Amino acid sequence: THWKHGGIVGVFGYGGGVIGRYSDVPGEFPSIAHFHTLRVNQPASKFYSSKFLRKLCDMWDHRGSGITNFHGSTGDMILIGTSTDELEPTFYDLTHQFDMDLGGSGSNLRTPACCMGKARCEYSVLDTQAICYDLTMTYQDELHRPAFPYKFKFKVSGCANDCVAAIARSCCSIIGTWRDNIRIDQKAVQAYIGGEIAPNAGAFSDRDWGAFDIQKEVIDLCPSGCMAMDGNELKIDDRECVRCMHCINTMPSALRPGLDVGATILNGAKAPIL
Ligand code: SF4
Ligand code: SF4
Repeated sequence: THWKHGGIVGVFGYGGGVIGRYSDVPGEFPSIAHFHTLRVNQPASKFYSSKFLRKLCDMWDHRGSGITNFHGSTGDMILIGTSTDELEPTFYDLTHQFDMDLGGSGSNLRTPACCMGKARCEYSVLDTQAICYDLTMTYQDELHRPAFPYKFKFKVSGCANDCVAAIARSCCSIIGTWRDNIRIDQKAVQAYIGGEIAPNAGAFSDRDWGAFDIQKEVIDLCPSGCMAMDGNELKIDDRECVRCMHCINTMPSALRPGLDVGATILNGAKAPIL
């Protein structure tokens, strides 16, 4: 099979969103002589109704192979396998029946992606969906018509946990952070120490890891060494805190991000490994 890039085949007016796939032996396998992939711009944070997904699968059974990939590494819904003749009808169905658009491919702006943000996550200090939607709408031309020498990606995470892996996977990472102090509930700190509240919101409670040790599990793991117990009080030197989220992840009932919130924007922010 020849795996092509965006722009070899496509829909009228767009240069991206369809990746051409052609069999080298179409005579032997005529039904997959073409097996093009469509990238479909996912809704922000990937929220769907089951009704929408059923309808999409029915459409794709009709127009293509029925094979999907939820989601591609850029974030799009991936519809795998159709012929050139079905590209325009599929695009028409997507835009007229589903209110959906194609995503990016090739040397264009790739479909922006974001974590679930404030919609479901108490850690988020950004409205990640609003940022993602704004970037998507502002850069429609760049998204659909490849004009760059190489692809370009935006990803938005509501906090430094970076669930959308913006640092590893995007060219411009937008990551929620705060400038003031971590909010501390000292009573809840004592409740963690006393074993009344499970650390990590109970995420590791399937095994007996022994009693919670705030020194070992939180203070000693703070990357900037800016935490200490002062008697029964947890102290944080917020000037040294690098906003990594570790302590907050471990004791979410006791520690919360500050209130003076914003974003760290990293350009060219790609890591070689995830
Ligand atoms: S990146 Fe942060 S705000 Fe976004 S889902 Fe993950 S933990 Fe929540
Ligand atoms: S957020 Fe990270 S750097 Fe800041 S106090 Fe907590 S563990 Fe330390």
